[in-house]
Amino acid sequence: MKKPVPPESHEIMNHIFGPVPSRRLGRSLGIDVIPAKTCSFDCIYCESGPTTHLSVKRENFFDPAEVLRQLDEFFRRSPRGADTITFSSAGEPSLYLQLGELIRQIKKKYRETPLALLTNGSLLWDDAVRKDLLEADIVVPSLDAATPGTFSKINRPHPSLRLDEVIEGIRAFRKDYRGRLHLEIMLVSDVNDSPEELSALAREAGDIDADVIELNTVARPPAIDGTRGLPEDRMRCAASFFPQNKTSIIGTFREDISRFGDEDLAARILQTIERRPCTIRELSASLGVAEELLKAESIRLRDSDKLIMLDFGGKFFLCPPSRTGCES
Ligand code: SF4
Repeated sequence: MKKPVPPESHEIMNHIFGPVPSRRLGRSLGIDVIPAKTCSFDCIYCESGPTTHLSVKRENFFDPAEVLRQLDEFFRRSPRGADTITFSSAGEPSLYLQLGELIRQIKKKYRETPLALLTNGSLLWDDAVRKDLLEADIVVPSLDAATPGTFSKINRPHPSLRLDEVIEGIRAFRKDYRGRLHLEIMLVSDVNDSPEELSALAREAGDIDADVIELNTVARPPAIDGTRGLPEDRMRCAASFFPQNKTSIIGTFREDISRFGDEDLAARILQTIERRPCTIRELSASLGVAEELLKAESIRLRDSDKLIMLDFGGKFFLCPPSRTGCES
């Protein structure tokens, strides 16, 4: 018989989610330090839905001690741990003012586990932000546009942000940073996939001199209806514009499933899909729980209006109920 879900468990672990399957980062334990959805961009492809608080102001959103407490609790309860600890939010993590301090404390305590940070790169022009990120092992800034028009169209940035300053910030960070820099480029059909855009992006990516260039595309329900990803053959064609020795196309992660246990299952499902819509198969790989069990629990959650199932590209994604209001 399933254990009842403690009503408070969703709040208790509100800064930790996953581990989420990631081809580049393995089983990646997510850390979220940003209130949803606070971001300096409002990307048309965002899987977390439209930005509700468009901001470039860094703030003390949460107490770092509480985030650390939740991290400790995860490692205490999960003998398999995680391959990577990853700052990844439904928003932009570098907007968290105490990010540098929190990174230092996590590295001190969990030295053996690589620490990654996914960022839209928009605040790297700021010396303080660049300094905060120096101790991370892997930093993954994104760059989806090489021209101001495409930047506005795809990222819909805060009005104070200029593309040339954003790119200059990423370059400046590369100069000082000793860890691995992965540049992620999200390709959207008919927005930034023309030969001209790809050539310009490849030039900027070359100047930035990232260790790896990762080409991604829309594979989950986007913020704006009608935003479409590229099929595999066009992704391969796009990849040919970039240096072959360091460019990869982000693929589907697969991992043997082994159970973590099914206590607090409802809370873990909700915490995971709040940041990133997932299929049942992805959730199964992420949470280490059999698909059948997840299906049954998801139907129960759907019937009690705690999640919805959205059809995108012929796959069903579990999403928070707020996603019913996708912009079009
Ligand atoms: S994709 Fe990232 S940068 Fe873009 S709106 Fe979503 S959270 Fe912000």
